[in-house]
Amino acid sequence: MKILTGIAAASGIAIGRAMLLDHEDMSVPAVPITPDQVAGEVLRFEEALTKTRNQILKIQHQITLELGREHAEIFDAHLMLLEDRTLIAEVIQGLKTQRLAVEYVFSQALKKYSTVLSNVNDEYLRERVADVNDVSRRILKNLMGEQTGRLDRITEKVIVIAYDLSPSDTATMHKKNVIGFATDIGGRTSHTAIMAKSLEVPAVVGLEKITQAVKDGDEVIIDGISGKVIINPDASTRETYEVEREKYLAHGRELLQFTGTPAVTLDKRLIGLMANMELPEEIASIRAHGAAGIGLYRTEYLYLNRRTLPNEEEQFESYKEVVSAMNPMPVTLRTLDLGGDKFLSHLEMPREMNPFLGWRAIRFCLAMPEIFKAQLRAILRASAFGKVRVMYPLISGLEELMAANAMLEQSKRDLIKKGIAFDPKIEIGAMIEIPSAALTCDLLAKQVSFFSIGTNDLIQYALAADRVNEKIAYLYDPAHPAVLRLIKMIVDAGHQNKVKVCMCGEMAGDPELTMILLGLGLDELSVSAVILPEIKLIIRSVKFENARRIAREALKFSMGKDVMAYAREEFKKAMKGQRLYESLKGKSV
Ligand code: PEP
Ligand code: MG
Repeated sequence: MKILTGIAAASGIAIGRAMLLDHEDMSVPAVPITPDQVAGEVLRFEEALTKTRNQILKIQHQITLELGREHAEIFDAHLMLLEDRTLIAEVIQGLKTQRLAVEYVFSQALKKYSTVLSNVNDEYLRERVADVNDVSRRILKNLMGEQTGRLDRITEKVIVIAYDLSPSDTATMHKKNVIGFATDIGGRTSHTAIMAKSLEVPAVVGLEKITQAVKDGDEVIIDGISGKVIINPDASTRETYEVEREKYLAHGRELLQFTGTPAVTLDKRLIGLMANMELPEEIASIRAHGAAGIGLYRTEYLYLNRRTLPNEEEQFESYKEVVSAMNPMPVTLRTLDLGGDKFLSHLEMPREMNPFLGWRAIRFCLAMPEIFKAQLRAILRASAFGKVRVMYPLISGLEELMAANAMLEQSKRDLIKKGIAFDPKIEIGAMIEIPSAALTCDLLAKQVSFFSIGTNDLIQYALAADRVNEKIAYLYDPAHPAVLRLIKMIVDAGHQNKVKVCMCGEMAGDPELTMILLGLGLDELSVSAVILPEIKLIIRSVKFENARRIAREALKFSMGKDVMAYAREEFKKAMKGQRLYESLKGKSV
């Protein structure tokens, strides 16, 4: 038995067999094939070899032109490998005997090949391992085409172990088959972690060496509550976790008794407690968990995992379905937030040095007005079918906000001209997730009817701590005095200008911080559906007056750890005697 500790990304406990996904961006599942598929797999293999050969020749030509022939010689070794008869024969033989898809057979053959090479007594040959790996990655890429859907083909229930998973990988994990996952890298507010929460898949990220510690088929326990992964547990540990898993699920069910009740404090302050969503199929769960609306719909997921962009009509149909299903509750449609850690392959968004500081979200949309306006028209059209709010991500200042609003007005005019209905009073919101926006909220307030604080980004930009990097996760601190001050500044500026202030970052779903957020004056909290009943229970158990006092005190601390210790203490006090919460948290409260 071995235990690794990482970052708890999505709560819950999963127990099952490990499926190791191969390389940081090359996961190769062992997909079974039938005997009559063997010929097709051989053909796919030959096509991938040809395609790879052409790509290498092109690169070689380019390098010869730019740097001279001697620099291009390294690719001769790559080309030779593509013609290695032994390797090719081994793959073809493997297809016939193993009856597994060619990607897997090929990657296994390659592994053997590089192991042999790295053990030979010849330095030159040993150095060729890197070449072999390089070509193998290229061939695999060509075999697997777009990386989309590679996880869709998993047919048994597994726990995925990977170096990393992209948010779009996570979105395609078939919920019934991937029952948990663990990764080497990643942070708590990466979109991969957020997606896992939405899909209710227990996950631990940022484990650093999990891919080295686990073998395919090992039994693994994912403890997404404490951030532990247990590899090959002994019988008693396994039993304990089985009991814990049942307890966790039972408490979740018990909390659902609040579904029909409002999120109101003991002294009658009503909070709009909404849900965040990524995929339309989450609606049933969101309703079941008792949300008062959707506070953040990350619409970009409709754009991921596909080869062509969705047109206005497709977007409209998708939004209309969500809006009608939630009616009369509001649905906050956030316009496209691509870039950062969510990429489109077909738009060929260039790779950037600092994607989170780069061409993402509203910046991308304002530069691509046709794409943006098609989405705005689709959102406006959906507003005829229920209560819709439109929200722009990553606003950095007034100019950008005004440019976005101008496009919205233009889209409205386009629809009026065509006689298409929409809600003329549609509410407009700006996400406040860049410090420059927080500092100029008074200016932005004139252009919108609500703000929504995106703490996932606001924290990373305010503290200069990448939200997806486990190495500096200790710096990524929602309780940092700078973060609390920024939130207070946004709420105060919003309220002075009669603008509602919401929070939709992951911080809104941290139970220990709920009282501080209430006390700072937030009007709405939008959280992932699974945590919503717990947050509602807390809101219903406390007094707003008390929360205000706690927020005032919290603002006096100089360090995040002291804020957090204070928040925990006050939280325990407030929930003491709350029977359901005490049973829910067992020893911890
Ligand atoms: C945020 O940044 O807090 C947010 C809600 O947006 P996203 O997580 O999609 O960047
Ligand atoms: Mg954001």
